This record gives sequence, structure tokens and C-alpha cells, in this order.
Amino acid sequence: MRGRIRSIKPDIGKHEGLWDLGVETGLPVYQAFTMLWCYADREGRFEWRPRSLKTDILPYWEGDFSRVLDALEQAGFVQQYTVAGVNYGYVPAFVKHQVINQREAKSVLPEPSIELHVHARASQNIAPSVRVEVFARDAHKCVRCGISSDLTIDHIFPRSIGGTNAITNLRTLCRPCNSGRPVTGDALVADLAKDNLSMHDMQRMCMHVQTHGEGKGREGKGVGDASATRPAPKAPKPKGSKFVPEDWAPSDGHYELANRLRVNLERELLSFRAHEFKTPKTDFDRAFTGWLTRSAQFGTSSSSMRAPVYEPKPIVWKDGG
Ligand SMILES: [Zn+2]
Repeated sequence: MRGRIRSIKPDIGKHEGLWDLGVETGLPVYQAFTMLWCYADREGRFEWRPRSLKTDILPYWEGDFSRVLDALEQAGFVQQYTVAGVNYGYVPAFVKHQVINQREAKSVLPEPSIELHVHARASQNIAPSVRVEVFARDAHKCVRCGISSDLTIDHIFPRSIGGTNAITNLRTLCRPCNSGRPVTGDALVADLAKDNLSMHDMQRMCMHVQTHGEGKGREGKGVGDASATRPAPKAPKPKGSKFVPEDWAPSDGHYELANRLRVNLERELLSFRAHEFKTPKTDFDRAFTGWLTRSAQFGTSSSSMRAPVYEPKPIVWKDGG
């Protein structure tokens, strides 16, 4: 594999999550992750070939590099995807942080499908007592297929889109059922529909975090019931909505804008769809335009994830270079 020169920001050394991951796992995740940027193409994609990557990235380390990649995936630093039976990886933060010289060759790797899996990430930070409680509530069976072996805790609304460890958002799934779940996009919407859920149920089900170590609990009124799979009560449709309507979709203009601003539209769309607005909105086209613009300025529109203000704006290279 051919490495490329990439820019690394000084604050990556202060990345607590990456540090903790290294401590927890005892794996050289820090070196691996920073070096991986040099082996990702301009879209942040790489071939998921642990042995070959290890040869380039950590030649002197004597360990199984697939464990490093798995740990990074579980923590959400990279995501694996498969196209036509071939495994690829993708660094979600890549495009946001790199200024790519336009002369660099276009990516020859397939685009990640929006059905990326972040399955294992779900097992992080759930208190053991909560796991026990969830398994007990679900009678130690996969709530989808009923088998009682190889059980995992599933986040009904995935962590990647802001799902929390609220017990109402957790359920027992066997590993095959869990890892088969899509975590984003229309596929996730379709998957949630199997349990009579929609994105509108997310806030209700993710609200009451009962455990320590999560800290993402949202205060709110309208206490949701404890059943993870009960359909949401249908409220009369208000004129404005605090949530993006399910039938709303971005326009061509939004795609053009995202392209121009070098913003990952699919990713922003997910957080946009999961967002609860303070005041009910009617013009979601306009709201999404503002959202994209803010995410280009701040790295994200989500205030909790907003990047430091000193983040340089991407340089727009004139064509021809
Ligand atoms: Zn199952």
C-alpha cells in the first residue's frame, strides 16, 4: 500500500477517547489510528486488510492488527463496510479534518453504503447491572428470533445517531440479529419499523438514562413507558414539528451545497433527522441549509460535538492545481 502525507492536528494527542481506548485494550490504537490516515485515500477509505496494514503501519509490533482495527471500530473511530464480498474501512472524521490536494487521485474504493455497522460500540459503557436487568427483562432470549445463545445488548436507536444507554433503548439480541441491523439511513428506518418504531420515538426512548458513565440523559417531559417495542402513541400532527418529518428529504440543492462546502451530507442528515428542535419548524429545507452551513463552519451542527473554533476552514483548490 502506498502511504500519503496527511495533516495531523496537534489536538489529536489530547483525544481522551483514543487514549482511554489504548489503556483499556492495551493495543497500540493511537499509533494505528494516526497512521491509518496516511493509508486512507482522499475519501478516508482503505482496504480492510489487517495483515497488510500492519506491515505498513506497525511493522515492529508483534500482535494481531485485526484486534486493533476491531477496537477502533468498536469505539467508532473507523467503520468497516463490505462491498461485493470485499471488506473496506472508512474513517468518518477524515473528510472533515483533511484538506486534500485536488491533484490527488480520486478514490478507487467503493463508497461506504450508508448501512454501516457500529454494532460493537453498543456494548461500551453499559453498567453490568443494567446488562443484567436488560437480559432479565427480555427473559434471556433474543427479542427478535428467540434464541438464547450468544446474546448481546442492542441499542434500539444506535449510539452513532445519538441513541443512549437508557434502559428503554436497550434490548437483548443475539449476535447475528444485532450485527445484521443497519445503523443509519433508510435501512435503519425500515428496520425500526419492524418494531413499530420511527425516528420520532428516539427522544422518548433515549431520555431516561439510569446509569452512571453515560451522562447523555436528556431531561424532558412526557415520560416514555418502559416497553422498548411498544409503538409510540400517535399525536395529532402539529403545524410545525420539532422533528424532521419522515417524508422530508434533502433536495438537489442540498447535495450541491454539501458538495461545495465539503460536508458529508449523509452523516449530517442522520444527526439532522435525530435532532429535536427547540421550536417547532415548518421549513425543513431551510433548516437543513442552515444545518449544512453550520456544519461546514464548525465541523458539525450538533452543539455537543462542535469542534474547537480554531479549526481551519478547508482550502478550496482551484481546478487544474
Ligand atoms: Zn436473534
